Amino acid sequence: MTTSPPKNQFASDNYAGVCPEAWQALQEANSGYATSYGDDPWTARACNALRDFFETDCEVFFVFNGTAANSLSLASLCQSYHSVICHHTAHIETDECGSGEFFSNGTKILTVGGADGKVDLAEVELTVTKRSDIHYPKPKVLSLTQATELGTLYTADELVAIHDLSKRLGLKLHMDGARFANAVAALKVAPKELTWRAGVDVLTFGGTKNGMPVGEAVVFFDRKLAYEFDYRCKQAGQLASKMRFLAAPWVGLLENQALLRHADHANRCAQKLAAAVKELSGVKLVHPAEANAVFVELPVKVITALRAQGWVFYTFIGSGHCRFMCSWSTSEEDIALLVAAIKQALC
Ligand SMILES: *Cc1c(COP(=O)(O)O)cnc(C)c1O
Repeated sequence: MTTSPPKNQFASDNYAGVCPEAWQALQEANSGYATSYGDDPWTARACNALRDFFETDCEVFFVFNGTAANSLSLASLCQSYHSVICHHTAHIETDECGSGEFFSNGTKILTVGGADGKVDLAEVELTVTKRSDIHYPKPKVLSLTQATELGTLYTADELVAIHDLSKRLGLKLHMDGARFANAVAALKVAPKELTWRAGVDVLTFGGTKNGMPVGEAVVFFDRKLAYEFDYRCKQAGQLASKMRFLAAPWVGLLENQALLRHADHANRCAQKLAAAVKELSGVKLVHPAEANAVFVELPVKVITALRAQGWVFYTFIGSGHCRFMCSWSTSEEDIALLVAAIKQALC
């Protein structure tokens, strides 16, 4: 099946192309030979750029996608008889085809609720404490998504409270940061305040949705947990032999702050869209637009009209409302055209 390329697209930030800084870095990396499997200068530079970004000596691995980054990192935190607690809208629960369970040989995912895609702490506690017998999959990890699947954020203070709880309950903290850059840009705090200072043991740091062609970084703040992670990557088919091309975009985006600049741009586009649609009668913002996604409730006739005009957006995420996702390549004109199209379809 072939489809014509969507022009009016707000479906996902992974519809966007490669940003200029990543492209430039790839071009520079494409010169001569380099040692394979990560033993090359670009990979070393990218790891160091991430250590600078987080202001700590973390252990870093580059893999091809977020599903691998999440499931392999969760597997490294768990035994097969353990369980991982996450929000019921979490990507690891709803969009990874059981990959976490597969790569951990059966670690069970236990879901909790919570407003706007954020885990309810009382529910997390209950999930851990309600059983202590041998028949229950022993809770071992709390996985948070930052920014959440519903476009909201955990603040640094909220993360500190979550850390207090996870410490008390003996849970490791995993963060799915497919949109971590958007969270940092929106919260305007140092990346360390949202990660290791808040007890995050391992972060899946998204590159793909932030202007890279492919690739995510798995960042271990607790280096002990990275033990033999290289073998996990290799066995799962996630060890790139031309690693320099997974690493170079990180260099291009981290050196000179391009990553946060692009994320900030995407966030601002979402804010602009949210502000405009909030004013329209018949349209409701479903979740606070805190990062680069805008969730709105639209009348069915508006959804139908927009789709007929070629607007592309998802309606299967979370509560099933319309999700408009902005990226580094969304323009002000895109926003203005979408708002005009919604207005027209409403009358
Ligand atoms: C996109 C996304 C991922 C990664 O998905 P892949 O398609 O495997 O790269 C992980 N978590 C969240 C929250 C995402 O939105």
